[in-house]
Amino acid sequence: MVRKLGSIREIAVVSMASRVRKLANGLLRFGGRAGNEAIACWPDKRRVCYPGRMIGPAGNRAAALSPRDPLAVLREVFGYPAFRGAQAEIVEHLLTRGDALVLMPTGGGKSLCYQVPALCLDGLTMVVSPLIALMQDQVAALAQLGVPAAALHSGLDRDAQRAVERDLATGRLRLLYVAPERVTAPGFLDRVAAAAPVLFAIDEAHCVAQWGHDFRPDYLQLAVLRQRFPGVPLVALTATADGPTRREIVARLGLGAGRVFVQGFDRPNIRYTVVEKLQPRQQLARFLAGRPATESGIVYCMSRARVEETADWLRRQGRDALPYHAGLDREVRSANQERFLRDEGVVMVATIAFGMGIDKPDVRFVAHLDLPKSIEAYYQETGRAGRDGLPAEAWLAYGLEDVARLRGLLARSEAPDHQRRTEWQKLEALLGFCETASCRRRVLLGHFGEELAEPCGNCDACLDPPATFDGTEAAQQALSAIYRTGQRFGVGHLVDVLLGVDSERVRSLGHDRLGVFGVGRAHGRDAWRGFFRQLVAMGLAEVDTEGHGGLLLSDGCRDVLRGERRVVLCRPRGRRATKGASRAVADAGLDPQAEARFEALRALRVELARAQGVPPYVVFHDTTLRAIAAAAPRKSADLARLPGIGAAKLARYGAAVLAALAEKAR
Ligand code: ADP
Ligand code: ZN
Repeated sequence: MVRKLGSIREIAVVSMASRVRKLANGLLRFGGRAGNEAIACWPDKRRVCYPGRMIGPAGNRAAALSPRDPLAVLREVFGYPAFRGAQAEIVEHLLTRGDALVLMPTGGGKSLCYQVPALCLDGLTMVVSPLIALMQDQVAALAQLGVPAAALHSGLDRDAQRAVERDLATGRLRLLYVAPERVTAPGFLDRVAAAAPVLFAIDEAHCVAQWGHDFRPDYLQLAVLRQRFPGVPLVALTATADGPTRREIVARLGLGAGRVFVQGFDRPNIRYTVVEKLQPRQQLARFLAGRPATESGIVYCMSRARVEETADWLRRQGRDALPYHAGLDREVRSANQERFLRDEGVVMVATIAFGMGIDKPDVRFVAHLDLPKSIEAYYQETGRAGRDGLPAEAWLAYGLEDVARLRGLLARSEAPDHQRRTEWQKLEALLGFCETASCRRRVLLGHFGEELAEPCGNCDACLDPPATFDGTEAAQQALSAIYRTGQRFGVGHLVDVLLGVDSERVRSLGHDRLGVFGVGRAHGRDAWRGFFRQLVAMGLAEVDTEGHGGLLLSDGCRDVLRGERRVVLCRPRGRRATKGASRAVADAGLDPQAEARFEALRALRVELARAQGVPPYVVFHDTTLRAIAAAAPRKSADLARLPGIGAAKLARYGAAVLAALAEKAR
């Protein structure tokens, strides 16, 4: 039924929905005169639009007013019972046509912030996204929910592109994902305007920040959206933005009049562990040994060569490991990425070239074999683990050679002074994180200006606190060894001297005749290596970046050598470390029978995903599978109540899931 209405006020009366009243008021405020004719299309109560000037090619705010309730959309379409964190507030804000900048940690649920309004409003929501893989994933996931969505990007062939453009023109699409460069393509925005845009979302918005690590020049052009469509709300979303970056996003995208929503940085489901790097591969192998082969994860290495070696080695150990770095052919890279997304149990060994926009929710661990560049980089890289909220692990092996390498890079850098100073501070902050004897999450969050009231209980420092001791004497011995041997030798040799190793080299250098020869037998080799690293991190010694990694004394060491300053050192940890610990948490709540159901459901999921050529998590997330396995529903109505089961998924998979459960119960 289509009714002609006389005035804005009448719409409010007809609808009786407070939201519409609110929106109608807002319309008067925003748009001034709205013309004197309006059409409301019932009966689905979704379309309320205004012909004439207001719905012209500019596609302004008046184009879509909708009484559809966001919570109903969340429940019916997405199958989730409630909004999380700031989601409800953000959705409400966008529906009342406010602009917003949303800062939420990875896995916080940013996509729902614009997908729910997109389905409440009647018209097109355009999402700008920097990566094709990310767009494809989102479109596939939306298709599973029965939502008409598509992506336009350079990876499409001509026919596919035409099909999307046709859907755009006929108004069939609710969400359109595009790459940033598309926005400035000739004529494109005219087509968007004709499709009555109701919302713009800019994902990974930190890409607009010129000094940021992910800067994408095309993002600068997005300012055109605010200028050309002043009436359409715009939301920018990101997981990483410090103060200056935030301000840059607001300024460049023209969000000055909007609201900023900040959700804390904490990722409570990620367990942080830092180990001293001794034999990195063996340590990695031990770390992996505690994890089932179905788990996927990422191993970050500093160089391409190390990526290749490590991937080869892991494959020889029987892991399904693939390499990823910028030196590989484009096809190999995308094939490997595809495997990682689609199959279970792939370990991606990669340089930092891998990962931006990787939206895989069930990455269970991120391991670093080399020190990342900064805490920000570490936070972002480890943030790719556990987006689904289930327990995940961030594991980092770090040693003196990392410190030497990074400090050396800085020393040789030709960047301007102020930039070098900043980078220096960033490195120091990272070392502080690695060396801390107290809660790591506190240090991490503190770096982002967030305070954690209690130690987290989910990092190695909380779970297995390192033993500290008055290490003044050990520090004096170590510093003397550096001094007496002429500030030319690396840790290996210094430890030989302290332990009194009677080797050819030690003798030929005459170091067996030094007073420090053999004075350090109270501690083992690993302990000494750790002490030297801690002394460097404390600034009492430094790595000679000009020489061959020999250690030098720093100014601060005098007070220690004179006995005027005490030094607290950490003893090396045992090898027990955190192996398997977080698995225990992951499995909590599933008894053996439920665990068996979970495995059966997982097999079903793989089958369903293969048949459609989509990643398994697009069919069901692990969280959903776990909920089903725990509840073991017998009836479709019970299944429908579980989180992650919306109407479309129930219709599509309900029968298969119930059949698999029944089969298991027999
Ligand atoms: P982000 O983009 O912020 O990293 P996503 O939008 O990918 O996060 O969401 C992370 C995960 O949380 C997804 O599995 C998503 O389905 C889930 N999720 C988001 N919001 C909710 C909610 N309100 N209730 C239940 N699950 C949610
Ligand atoms: Zn902690």
